[in-house]
Amino acid sequence: MKVLTVDDSRLIQRMYGLLFMKYKNCEVAQAGNGVEALEVLSHDKDFDMIILDMNMPLMNGLQFLEKMKELRHRHIPVVMISTEDKEKAALQAMKLGAWGYLRKPFKSEELYTLVDQVMAGSAPVLKTSRIC
Ligand SMILES: [Mg+2]
Repeated sequence: MKVLTVDDSRLIQRMYGLLFMKYKNCEVAQAGNGVEALEVLSHDKDFDMIILDMNMPLMNGLQFLEKMKELRHRHIPVVMISTEDKEKAALQAMKLGAWGYLRKPFKSEELYTLVDQVMAGSAPVLKTSRIC
């Protein structure tokens, strides 16, 4: 499985690297914002999933989702992960095509469960336990 993680925090990127290495030995590519992520996708569209931060410089997660729609990258499932605890933010992400939403901070098992659900095709998955 190949994952693109998009987040402007180096610490969080390092954590994703470790988490996804442990999870089915995923191959991980990383981007620091939406612009970088589009750059990665312009060279390689072969990702099984995108893990997307909401708040990032240059192009945030919601803007990136809009761009994905335009560029026909919609076949790649996106899981939005954000510190936003408002239900509105999650719904906005889902409306723009996110397949799942998880609030930071999260436990590794929560991420794995959501990723499993999305990969199993039971998306869209709105993880509402903390945001409602
Ligand atoms: Mg951020």
